[in-house]
Amino acid sequence: MDIKSYMDIEDDPIEIAFKTYERLRISDERYNAFTLLRDWDEIQKEIEASKGPLKGLLLPVKDNISTKSIRTTCASRILSNYIPPYDAYAVKKLKEAGVVVVGKTNMDEFAMGNTSETSYFGPVKNPWKDGYVPGGSSGGSAVATLVSGAPSLGSDTGGSVRQPASYTYILGLKPTYGLVSRYGLISYADSLEQIGVFAKYPLDLAKVLYHISDYDPRDGTMVRDGRRGRLRNSLSRISTGEDLELSPERYSIAYSSKIVELSDDDVRKLFYRSIDLLEEMGFRLHDIDLDFMEVGLPTYYIITMVEASSNLMRYDGIQYGLLEEIGDYFKSVSITRSRGFGEEVKRRIITGALLSSKGYEGKYYLKALKLRRWIRDSVKKILDVYNFIVIPTTPSKPPKFGEALGPKGYIHDLYTVIPNLTGNPAISIPMGFIEGLPVGLQFISRWFSEDLLIKVAYLTDGKLYDSSKEVG
Ligand code: GLN
Repeated sequence: MDIKSYMDIEDDPIEIAFKTYERLRISDERYNAFTLLRDWDEIQKEIEASKGPLKGLLLPVKDNISTKSIRTTCASRILSNYIPPYDAYAVKKLKEAGVVVVGKTNMDEFAMGNTSETSYFGPVKNPWKDGYVPGGSSGGSAVATLVSGAPSLGSDTGGSVRQPASYTYILGLKPTYGLVSRYGLISYADSLEQIGVFAKYPLDLAKVLYHISDYDPRDGTMVRDGRRGRLRNSLSRISTGEDLELSPERYSIAYSSKIVELSDDDVRKLFYRSIDLLEEMGFRLHDIDLDFMEVGLPTYYIITMVEASSNLMRYDGIQYGLLEEIGDYFKSVSITRSRGFGEEVKRRIITGALLSSKGYEGKYYLKALKLRRWIRDSVKKILDVYNFIVIPTTPSKPPKFGEALGPKGYIHDLYTVIPNLTGNPAISIPMGFIEGLPVGLQFISRWFSEDLLIKVAYLTDGKLYDSSKEVG
C-alpha cells in the first residue's frame, strides 16, 4: 500500500515521534536546518500530556513564527535573545490538535532571501548535493520535512515555501491571502505573506491546513465568508482519505510558452514533459498570453521593500531584542540596528525608506500598487475561465552557495511572486531533477481552492517524474 500520510507509518505516537526526532537531529547536524532543536526529554513529556487527532506529530516551525517560551529570532542577531510570551495562532491551533513544537527552523534573516544563506546561525545546506542551497527563505523547514517526512510550517511572502519545496523535492503550499491567521507571524511584508505548509504526502498538507485555517478575529485581514467553511469541510474529507480523487477531464489548465521561455533550457524541458503528462492524464491545456507576469518581480520588490522598512522600524533594541549600547537614544538605536541587522536586511530597509520618501512615492510605490492591481485583475480574468495556471516554480535549478546572494538572486523569484501579489493559493509539486538537483512545478488556482491543489498533488504524486528520463 502507498504511504499517504506521515502519520500512517506507525501508530504509537511516542515511537513515531522518536524516529522523527532522530531524523530531525540529522537534518540539523548535517544541514543546519534548525536555529533551535529542543531536548527529547521535554518533548516526550509534552507528547505524553498532549491530546488530539495529531498527537505524536512533531512540528518544525520556521523561526519567524512566534512560539510561546521558545526563542524566536527570525535568524537575526537583533532578535537573537527574544522569547515570545505567546504562540502564533497557527501554532496554538496545532497544539490544541495534539502537536508538539520540536524546534525552530533556520531561514534567511527576516525571511528576506531565497537561499537560506543570510541566517545569523549560518547557511542551510541542500541534502541533494554538496555546495548547493536548499532555497529560501524557509530552507530549514523544507530540509526538516525532506529528511524526516514530517510536515512543517514556513512562511511565504514571495515564494519562501514553494521555492525551497521545489529545490528539495517536496510539496509546498501557500494558502489564499486571508485564509491563515498571521497573528504571531513576524511581519516582513504583511500585505503579501501567509503561513504555509511543507509536506512529503499530500494528505498531510490537508491535515495541517485544516487546523491552521480556523477564523481568528485578531488578524483583521482574514477573509470572513462562507468560502472558509466550505474549504475546511473539504480539507477534512481529504484528510480522512474520503474525498481525494479528482477527474482531470473536468479541469482546464492555462500556461504560457512565452513566459516559460524565461527559464533555463533544462527547466523548460522538464516543464513541457510535465505538460504532456498532464494532458495524457486528461487535463485540458491551453497556451495563452501571461505577459503581465514579466512585471511581477519589480512590482513585488518595490512593495516588499517599502513594507519591510516600515515593519522593521520597531527593532530599536529597547522594547525587546538586542540592545548594544545604552546612552543617547539616537546613537544607541543606530548602533543596535547597524550591528543587529545583516547586509540584505539593511539594503531593503534603506531602499524601502527611499522608495516611499516624500517626492518619490508617486514614482515607484504608487506605480507598483497600480501594477499589482493590474496583475491581480489579469489573473482573476484568466482563472474565471481556466481552473489552474501552471508555470515552473523557479526558472532554474538550485544555485550554488553565494551565486544568488543579494539583488542578483532576485530573478529566482520570477514565477513565485505572482500568487503573493494576487492573493491566490499556489503549490509546488516535484517535477524532476537536473544534474541531481530537484525542481518543481507550480499550480495556481482560484481563491480558497487549496483543496483542488492538494488533490492535484495527490493525482500527480510521483508521476511527473520518471527517473529513467532524467534530463541533463
Ligand atoms: N525571495 C523573496 C524575497 O526575498 C521571497 C521571500 C519570502 O517569501 N519570504 O522577498
